[in-house]
Amino acid sequence: MSPIAAPAARDRLRIAIQKSGRLSDPARELLRACGLDWRESRDRLFCFGETLPVDLLLVRDDDIPGLIAEGVCDLGIVGRNVLAEQRAECAAQDRAPPFRELVALGFGQCRLMLAVPEERAWTGVASLAGLRIATSYPRLLERWLAERSLVATIVNLSGSVEIAPRLGQAEVVCDLVSSGATLAANHLRPVETLLECEAVLAGPAAEFQGPRAELAELLRRRIDGVLRIRDSKLLLCQAARAALPGVLRLLPDAEAPTLTPIDGSDQLAVQALCHGAITWQRLEELKRAGASRLLVLPIERMLA
Ligand code: ATP
Ligand code: ZN
Repeated sequence: MSPIAAPAARDRLRIAIQKSGRLSDPARELLRACGLDWRESRDRLFCFGETLPVDLLLVRDDDIPGLIAEGVCDLGIVGRNVLAEQRAECAAQDRAPPFRELVALGFGQCRLMLAVPEERAWTGVASLAGLRIATSYPRLLERWLAERSLVATIVNLSGSVEIAPRLGQAEVVCDLVSSGATLAANHLRPVETLLECEAVLAGPAAEFQGPRAELAELLRRRIDGVLRIRDSKLLLCQAARAALPGVLRLLPDAEAPTLTPIDGSDQLAVQALCHGAITWQRLEELKRAGASRLLVLPIERMLA
């Protein structure tokens, strides 16, 4: 049997990720942290999952929503920008989108922004009227303009949007921005944000059926666990009962701590799962508030 079997014949889950690009390494890392493993060879698009019945499809990011829609894959890791553009395309055609965002994954952060040449005066969105805006996200831009009753010309480009003003193709660009270095290198200035983006887990609009439903649920639980512990640490310390309120005030990002009395003293052992960074400065503040024997431990796995 060919590994790329028809959807109905499959009881393994198939997840599509970007073959190469900004999201491919972090997507692989996330899946490995979830206990998946596979062997890759350079030109293979299909990777058989060796630890779970979950296989990988390595594709271009733009193809992922369509592959989910066709049932060729069950889940995908893709930028919200790609998903939102294709969703807006469905809406423009009066079709319900066959895919949806399931979980935001916390990497690949960027913004879809309008940017103008540095020398161009910007007095607010009204100054877009009548201009040409170059973008690879025509549906999102069209919707954003319509919501503001603005009329501008959308110049649809599949790449190199940032050089459109210099080439005389447009006065304004609408493109993805992360550090802003590409804009600055092209003498462009960001002026408006259309969409906050990051990588997301995408799946079909309809619920899964059969064995794939259980696998998808298992993978989602593991992804939740991995995301929750990403910046989390376990803090152990001791504090006198009277000092406890002051110590806990310094731990606003902690889940309800476990408190254990220490025999023969007025001290409590405190164990708290903190979701923010525990810096040296924070440890010193905790010590001043009355905590002692402070220990910060990394978390390996979490299953809520
Ligand atoms: P493919 O060959 O798969 O079509 P691509 O060139 O479309 O690749 P990349 O440039 O690798 O895609 O970007 C993938 C995703 O990374 C984007 O869709 C976006 O969600 C995210 N991203 C984060 N920062 C940026 C950025 N500065 N520019 C572009 N994309 C970014
Ligand atoms: Zn792409």
